[in-house]
Amino acid sequence: MIVGVIGGGQLARMMIPAAVNLGIEIRVLAEADGMAAELAASGVGDYRDLATVLAFAEAVDVITFDHEHVPQEILHALLEQGTPVRPGPDALLYAQDKLLMRAKLSELGLPVPDWAAIESAAELGEFLEAHGGRAVVKTPRGGYDGKGVRVVRAAHEADDWFLALAEDGRGGALLVEELVEFKRELAQLVARRPSGELAAWPVVETVQQDGVCSEVIAPAPHSAGKVADVAAEIALAVAEGIGVTGVFAVELFETTDERLLVNELAMRPHNSGHWSQDGSTTSQFEQHLRAVLDLPLGGTGTRDPWTVMVNILGGPASGSLADRYADAFAAHPTAKVHNYGKDPRPGRKVGHVNVGGDDLDDVSYQARAAAAFFQD
Ligand code: ADP
Repeated sequence: MIVGVIGGGQLARMMIPAAVNLGIEIRVLAEADGMAAELAASGVGDYRDLATVLAFAEAVDVITFDHEHVPQEILHALLEQGTPVRPGPDALLYAQDKLLMRAKLSELGLPVPDWAAIESAAELGEFLEAHGGRAVVKTPRGGYDGKGVRVVRAAHEADDWFLALAEDGRGGALLVEELVEFKRELAQLVARRPSGELAAWPVVETVQQDGVCSEVIAPAPHSAGKVADVAAEIALAVAEGIGVTGVFAVELFETTDERLLVNELAMRPHNSGHWSQDGSTTSQFEQHLRAVLDLPLGGTGTRDPWTVMVNILGGPASGSLADRYADAFAAHPTAKVHNYGKDPRPGRKVGHVNVGGDDLDDVSYQARAAAAFFQD
């Protein structure tokens, strides 16, 4: 059993210990500066180059991903070559293009914010008029961590993005959505095997800072009952409707009037599931390997009443994360630190901290305080 992972970021890197524990060979096709490359029997190469990807795939039993950006032609060529691709090209298409995703979710009858595809400032103006003068504009492709998401109040405020679409010859539309009044953001993580078995973790609350996830609380407070049931139902409908395999995440808004709306889908292990490494019977990374290998899925129960994950954003102004271990470990012995081996840079996710326990206030405090040792 050899799993091939395309993309060498922290998600690929965190699949490696899970594979090692199970004695499963894992290979990574990493970018030159990928964090996973140093740890796995890996190739360094460009995931946009057909020959490179096909050669990498020849030596593995299944291909999976650290990110969703592998071009569709290459995904189809892999299938033609006879390599299983999990998740498959169709599922990845929706994660690659927010307009296609909105259209698909609407077609499946799932609750989403009001949206439209717009091709001009005039169309943006009409949408604004119909939605109280405020809206969120998104570039359909290439956005992450809030880049490519903009709150607008006037029709001309997306002109630069229309121009960029026209200039790079792609043309096409931008996505515009109602500005959702939400109480909080939630995420529902699920795993699905090709044979159809599904396993859902408890729904979690995610906290964002400047469009970047900063903190996750598992399970989401006050979510027992209706919220958890609806979140799981939505995720299962996505799994079935899109035929996803592997671990995937559904990002949700809980609105001020108590509805759940789907924001985004991520067709891979996700930041909202990092808590599971230390807080669940089965971590999302082990589960992803099980799912893509079509093995029975592991339990998704919690180990502690509460687990809080805090991202280490930016990292220390000088030196490495490990330079701070002695002080951080002494002060917070219950904190589990995960270091991605990345160079610190403002705003960059360079690691995270998980803490579990019985008392949510204490768990949150410990996780935040431990993470603070690595940020200045
Ligand atoms: P990315 O792909 O960069 O993660 P998202 O579409 O998830 O972008 O948006 C990033 C953040 O912007 C969300 O987590 C949320 O806080 C905010 N946001 C996105 N869409 C809306 C919306 N329609 N209404 C209100 N806030 C939104």
